[in-house]
Amino acid sequence: MKGTVLYAPSDVSFEKRPEPKIIKPTDAIVRISVTCVCGSDLWPYRGANPITEPTPMGHEYCGIVEEVGSAVKTVRPGQFVIGSFATSDNSCPHCQYGYQSSCEHREWISTAQAPRLRVPLADGTLVATPEVPSDELLPSLLTLSDVMCTGHHAAVSAGVRPGSVVAVVGDGAVGLSAVLASSRLGAERIIALSRNPVRQELAREFGATCILAERGEAASQAVLELTGGVGVDAALECVGTGESVATAFAIARPGSTVGIVGVPHDVQVPFESAFFRNIGWRGGAAPARVYIPELIDDVLDGRINPGRVLDYETDLEGIADAYAAMDERRAIKSLVRVGTC
Ligand SMILES: [Zn+2]
Ligand SMILES: [Zn+2]
Repeated sequence: MKGTVLYAPSDVSFEKRPEPKIIKPTDAIVRISVTCVCGSDLWPYRGANPITEPTPMGHEYCGIVEEVGSAVKTVRPGQFVIGSFATSDNSCPHCQYGYQSSCEHREWISTAQAPRLRVPLADGTLVATPEVPSDELLPSLLTLSDVMCTGHHAAVSAGVRPGSVVAVVGDGAVGLSAVLASSRLGAERIIALSRNPVRQELAREFGATCILAERGEAASQAVLELTGGVGVDAALECVGTGESVATAFAIARPGSTVGIVGVPHDVQVPFESAFFRNIGWRGGAAPARVYIPELIDDVLDGRINPGRVLDYETDLEGIADAYAAMDERRAIKSLVRVGTC
């Protein structure tokens, strides 16, 4: 089998890799239908995270179960499944508390940009659809593996509810998903921060009621002006840089909670100013496994189409350009079609 390996910044290859096999009785082997490149894959690709050894890539996936270990009870070969980027047993105290991404037996999926994938803790990690979906639904179902659930987690963490005034910091695939999630949760006003015309248009399609092209201090000022100097009920931070976190805290109204899902890089929470304005923060790696069943019905019934963030398409042989397209901002997010159902 061939799989995706990152050697050095901007150096991705699709090359011979060991065939995945059942190692533990709780494993499943999934034949991947579609996978994609994550914004977080770009950190090492751009050299922002050190690469100490050749690194297999990919953690967003869905496909057909090919084989299961002897202890797997709920997942069967032939089923179409979506899995979280973090495996979970669904039974430990953290899973029972709703935080599967902190499972005591968690493993990070990291080899999904390949034709086949070993998924540990298959029963607790994978969610099967009632039937094998049509090809058109695959992009949206794939987003439930990470990006849509992560955007949803930002909104849930910040307490978005019907009537909320929301601002989303970040116009990447997660930020756009956070716009869609806020709209789905009934937000009344959604301010999206974006200066890219393609992303602005998709943000509007996903439910943004206002787009601001400003950044940094100017963005904070603009959001405060739009809200009569009050700030927003829910600031959703979907980037993970010092500037984006500072913006999110600056535009959060006193008493609100900032939802943070951008993987932090050189970030400092402004604790003192947050303290004196009673601002909290919640978030982290999304417990996608909790959200998948809830969001899957909306995708299958056509109520949401989060797959619209996947605006570039290739196959595994084209994986290097799938990365380059996102790095050069030719694509919001790159879909990689692997096999048909
Ligand atoms: Zn991801
Ligand atoms: Zn667990």
